[in-house]
Amino acid sequence: MQKFSYHTHTKFSDAENTLEEMLSQAVNLGWEEIGISDHMVIHKDIKNTFFYEKVCRENRPHMAHDDFNEAKEFFARNIDYIRKTAKKYPLKVYVGFEVDYFTYDGWEEEFREFINQLDNDYLLTGNHFFLNNKGDFIGDISDYKNKEESDKLGNLDEYIHIHFNTIKKAVKSGLFNFLAHLDYVRKVKAYESEKFTDDCLQIVKALKETGMGCELSTKGLRKIGDYYPQNNILRELVKEKVPLVISDDAHKTTELGYAFDKAENVLKEVGCQCRFRLK
Ligand SMILES: [Zn+2]
Ligand SMILES: [Zn+2]
Repeated sequence: MQKFSYHTHTKFSDAENTLEEMLSQAVNLGWEEIGISDHMVIHKDIKNTFFYEKVCRENRPHMAHDDFNEAKEFFARNIDYIRKTAKKYPLKVYVGFEVDYFTYDGWEEEFREFINQLDNDYLLTGNHFFLNNKGDFIGDISDYKNKEESDKLGNLDEYIHIHFNTIKKAVKSGLFNFLAHLDYVRKVKAYESEKFTDDCLQIVKALKETGMGCELSTKGLRKIGDYYPQNNILRELVKEKVPLVISDDAHKTTELGYAFDKAENVLKEVGCQCRFRLK
């Protein structure tokens, strides 16, 4: 069974437990390695959004940055702290980030320059927001879970197409080691998966072309009663030999390794022979 997770969060972003608590639990589980991947959300307009109001109310303003220069100091400090702390634990600790990819003009160039100056080990892309065609910020997908909320968007399906297109661009950018929760948008109750099979298949194709990994996330089990991605898309990933990694997307110590035994069985059942590993 896979005895590590590369998709975990700490109090540096929106999780319940500290880095120290997460590392102790990983040691308790008998893991020999772990990747810490707190959120990295940098968008020029983010401070004018309901999302920012929300994270400020929750005392997590550091969840949202609107300036790459300021963000650099914040993340560089976190990386130093993780590296220093990791030395006290008998396991290999990789420093990563879960990055929201944005599509407005200039974002990718700025991001490349920014990330080149940081000493992280890896990046995953996890996309949590609705954007419009220009990459303007519309809102946090979690705020549109119920039908009354998503109805307010007007054209939900159009926003979902743009969302999948954003993920495809993120994959094609070549900036990331693996993709998190491919069909996270399933948490929106009005989402009709048959309408978006082709969008998902295009992402699978992009993953294959770039050689990037993809996660099978047990967070979906906790949130919507099924894995991300759903089984037919998982089978396509296997068919195209996209390297897969099981993720817990742990936001507290008790979620580390959550349902990994079940996820291993799923991977066996779909015939997965190609696993993702950081080296
Ligand atoms: Zn995520
Ligand atoms: Zn996450």
